[in-house]
Amino acid sequence: MIFIIGAGISGLSVADNLKKDFTILEKNDYPGGLATQYRSGEYWFDFSGHYFHFADKVNVKKYVEQFSHFKEYKRDSRIYMFGKLIPFPVQYHLSYFPEKTRRKIFEEMKRRTEADHDNLKDSLVGNFGKTLYDMFFGPFMTKYYGRDLSDIIPAMDRGSIPVPDLKSVEEGLSGKNFSDKGYNPVFYYPEDNLRTFIGNIEKNLSGKIKYNETVLEVDLKERKIKTDKGEYFFSKIVNTMPLKGLVDILSPCPEWADGADKLESVSTLVVNLVLREKRENFHWVYLPEGPSRFYRAGYYPGHPDTACYLERSLNEGESHDIEEVRTEAVTILKKLNMIVSEAEIEHMDIRVIPGSYIIFNREWKKIVPGMLEKLKENNVYSIGRYGSWNYSSMSNDIKSGIGTADLLNGDQ
Ligand SMILES: Cc1cc2nc3c(=O)[nH]c(=O)nc-3n(C[C@H](O)[C@H](O)[C@H](O)COP(=O)(O)OP(=O)(O)OC[C@H]3O[C@@H](n4cnc5c(N)ncnc54)[C@H](O)[C@@H]3O)c2cc1C
Repeated sequence: MIFIIGAGISGLSVADNLKKDFTILEKNDYPGGLATQYRSGEYWFDFSGHYFHFADKVNVKKYVEQFSHFKEYKRDSRIYMFGKLIPFPVQYHLSYFPEKTRRKIFEEMKRRTEADHDNLKDSLVGNFGKTLYDMFFGPFMTKYYGRDLSDIIPAMDRGSIPVPDLKSVEEGLSGKNFSDKGYNPVFYYPEDNLRTFIGNIEKNLSGKIKYNETVLEVDLKERKIKTDKGEYFFSKIVNTMPLKGLVDILSPCPEWADGADKLESVSTLVVNLVLREKRENFHWVYLPEGPSRFYRAGYYPGHPDTACYLERSLNEGESHDIEEVRTEAVTILKKLNMIVSEAEIEHMDIRVIPGSYIIFNREWKKIVPGMLEKLKENNVYSIGRYGSWNYSSMSNDIKSGIGTADLLNGDQ
């Protein structure tokens, strides 16, 4: 029997495409993992701002449309700097910078080289110059990843930060708008909502998901899974729980799993809100400037259009003070003109998503690819954003789910 650990979007995508017998073990009492909604008071919120990125993944889009109609959104994202909103991506829109600074940034960008960089900081300084790094990339990404960018390998930017050619930078300096540049200028969200979309996939799998059942131990030699409810023998496992957590429950722990304690991630603190009215029309805004640690604010798609969120990172083991978070959230909302007074906040919910972004630290390359291979040799396919300990979107997760099902379907 094939066991799938986790009924998130990755696990569901495997299950929905598997032609062999399987069981999903899911510790929650609902499907979807992070890719769904939770209820707070009378409102439903996504776990955070969720859009589907279908660009160049036409097959995934087609597959996904079996379960819901998707509305297309032309991305409108901005950066809040100098007390105003600058179109994203900032490196294309230097006309919004003070005269002297923009010339300096342009001169620095002209001197960029194709060098291979050892870390994310050097790579960003190399591509965009020190001035733009100090004003935007450095402070924004340090907030985002919660650490010094010299400790992160360049793969972390995943090629998602476009490096403009100099002609475009010059046109941007003269005021041309390039807000269609950068990754995924178009996004999608189910016309109903993410929860209903996930529910429609789950309907096909009735009886195959064991909810409220937590996997506690995996014995690779005996091919045995132990949960808080029982024991099962597996032929294969598809794992979607975090790789680091899986390695912790391998029993006995093989030698090749050493080093997993060096894998790092950050958590996201999300403030979800419903406001009395919608004063702005952007989808989301990046917040590089301090002292606030919030790095992004946005309105939700597919919700009452006054629903919005703020995000900031928390390091492992770091706590937060609710009152401080509240006060900071109100300050940011006012700054962005999303509210003019606190009385406009109808509802606020503060939630932490643990281990939400994995960190590409120097150990990542040494540990992760080898560990995934070893697991596969031991009949465990560890996939999805957290199972493969990588950066991925819901579309990537669906694609890897379908790919894994195809592999298993082909197995004798
Ligand atoms: C703040 C934030 C914003 C994001 N925004 C976007 C976006 O706009 N667009 C986009 O495409 N993606 C976005 N993502 C990424 C997206 O949410 C993930 O890629 C996707 O939800 C991961 O799905 P998954 O199934 O791989 O993992 P998960 O959703 O984590 O599912 C894993 C499942 O395993 C279960 N599980 C864990 N441990 C056990 C155990 N021991 N026993 C049994 N079950 C277990 C969990 O309960 C969970 O249901 C965002 C992520 C975050 C954190």
